[in-house]
Amino acid sequence: MIIVMQSGAEGEKVESVVDRIADLGLKAHVSQGEFRTIIGVIGDETLLKPELFAGLAGVESVMPIMKPYKLASRDFHREDTVLEIGPFKAGGAHISVIGGPCSIESRDQLFTAARVVRDAGGTMLRGGAFKPRTSPYSFQGLGEDGLRMLQDAGAEVGLPTVTEVIDVRDIDLVCRYADVLQIGARNMQNFRLLTEVGQTKKPVFLKRSPAATIEELLMSAEYILSEGNHRVMLCERGIRGFDKATRYLLDLSAVPVLRGLTHLPVVVDPSHATGRRELVVPMACAAVAAGAHGVMVEMHPNPEKALSDGPQQLTPEAFRQMMAELAPIAQAVGRTLHGVPEA
Ligand code: PEP
Ligand code: MN
Repeated sequence: MIIVMQSGAEGEKVESVVDRIADLGLKAHVSQGEFRTIIGVIGDETLLKPELFAGLAGVESVMPIMKPYKLASRDFHREDTVLEIGPFKAGGAHISVIGGPCSIESRDQLFTAARVVRDAGGTMLRGGAFKPRTSPYSFQGLGEDGLRMLQDAGAEVGLPTVTEVIDVRDIDLVCRYADVLQIGARNMQNFRLLTEVGQTKKPVFLKRSPAATIEELLMSAEYILSEGNHRVMLCERGIRGFDKATRYLLDLSAVPVLRGLTHLPVVVDPSHATGRRELVVPMACAAVAAGAHGVMVEMHPNPEKALSDGPQQLTPEAFRQMMAELAPIAQAVGRTLHGVPEA
């Protein structure tokens, strides 16, 4: 349920509504908008009777949220959420470009990639240290050694870092080294993992499972938000199709659908979605044109030698080309691409 306060109603009036919510054993989430305060009430729906709040001073209206997700809903938070991640903003009018290798393989590989991302105007450095591989015999990542390299590379180039956490037992470790916790597609409905990352103070980059509906993605975000962590970014990375021409089927329409349903930033990963290097740049451009708040792309100094996902990783040259192609598109849709930082 959402309680919309009258314009200008604040202080004691908001507090008395919050007190009543607490008396009922429910959770209040206060959202201070530009013109008015909105209070979200989270908990057992059967206890939520509008008449319990309608008569309180300062209350303008009381509305049920019909959707199963509440905190993720745009009904609850009208304006786009804008996150501060290191020196950059994500969401709203800002375009995030998250680049880096699929897997962290060596210091040399990662530092080279990090410089390419930074010099071309990317806003975050990615790299996997714990890799969720289909085969147990494939490269599984460098673990803590990889995390250490990621932290050092991010510090050297001045970019915040994002890396996947695949197990609740690794959360503290990954939090020590990385700025953003990625929940991979395979773990989108690992509810224990979602709950636990919801209890950290790190922004979470939540990828859609290839078999999940948009509503299921938003319910997974709700798990994180309901634990008190409001810094969540969503990522469309392709769903299962029937055509082997691409690795997955990029659901580009998920971008405007999500933008309508949620205030959270929506990012597209055209690398895993297509699985083919030559398709990554066009689909990154299409994503921004469709209203995405950014892209996550894999880039490797030497993709032929990559230990994972070689065929889809951009070369440094293609990454720079992508940035050049994104710039006029971002401008056309009224967004800010951070561009090359001033020297
Ligand atoms: C990744 O981004 O490293 C990754 C494994 O992607 P996904 O979880 O979308 O398959
Ligand atoms: Mn990959």
